[in-house]
Amino acid sequence: MSRLGLLIFSLFLLAACGPRELESDAAFECSNCERWNMPQEPFRILGNTWFVGTAGLTALLIETDDGLILIDGALPQSAALIDSNIRKLGFDPLNIKAILLSHAHFDHAGGLNALQRLSGSAVYTSPDGAKVLKSGLLQEDDPQFLYGTENTSFPGVDKVTGIATGELVTIGGVDVRAVHTPGHTPGGVSWTWESCALGTCYDVVYADSLTAVSAEGYRFIDGPAANQIIESAGAISELDCDILLSPHPFFFGMQDKLEKRDAGNPFINNVACMIYAETALDWLEQRLVSER
Ligand SMILES: [Zn+2]
Repeated sequence: MSRLGLLIFSLFLLAACGPRELESDAAFECSNCERWNMPQEPFRILGNTWFVGTAGLTALLIETDDGLILIDGALPQSAALIDSNIRKLGFDPLNIKAILLSHAHFDHAGGLNALQRLSGSAVYTSPDGAKVLKSGLLQEDDPQFLYGTENTSFPGVDKVTGIATGELVTIGGVDVRAVHTPGHTPGGVSWTWESCALGTCYDVVYADSLTAVSAEGYRFIDGPAANQIIESAGAISELDCDILLSPHPFFFGMQDKLEKRDAGNPFINNVACMIYAETALDWLEQRLVSER
């Protein structure tokens, strides 16, 4: 081998064996993006479940006996914050064994490409969500499709598997169950698992967005989305649910709860899922009234 060849080979080896670091994708620009992407100190919600997202977008980490599960990746520019939050807690992002997605919009799926490339992890969502997540392009049946590709597309993700409702993703003894909850998007998924602390176990529900939000020109009343939201709200209200979490921290009152941490664990609330479902139905009703 020539000297140059040896140098190139050595550089290749160094790149392949050195510590892998996150390579961020280009930042997504939107009116709320800067506010949503404000940093948030990571914290333990309860037991195996940690918040590693930003001030306005949820990303969750579940610790298991055999690696980590990451749920959602926020914006492309959030990936670096999520990576650093995971490290701050003493975990290694390279130890992520499964990535789960709630719904394939840029503000929850945008950071997953970089986080998947870093960890090499398998990615799971619904079959409809998988189509969008792989391509990074919304399908025509998404209520936000009419915003246009330039305003909605995000970096597509490798190694995505679409799973059925009721199916489990099991890592290191932790079962995370997919519950399809379409309506906000055709492929929306809520996820539920058990988290234990001080000998008591709790059912955690990561309820997907159920808001009837669309681009101009879309009517919920015309398509399947209105009925889907009604059915998905019903499904969420019927889940065993001690702790409600959702893709926007605002929806589960995160900041408010963080301020009340001295008095027990404010995240435990076994009527929160029912209230979440009722609120979604109220918003849908208002939307349908405005469409009529
Ligand atoms: Zn969305």
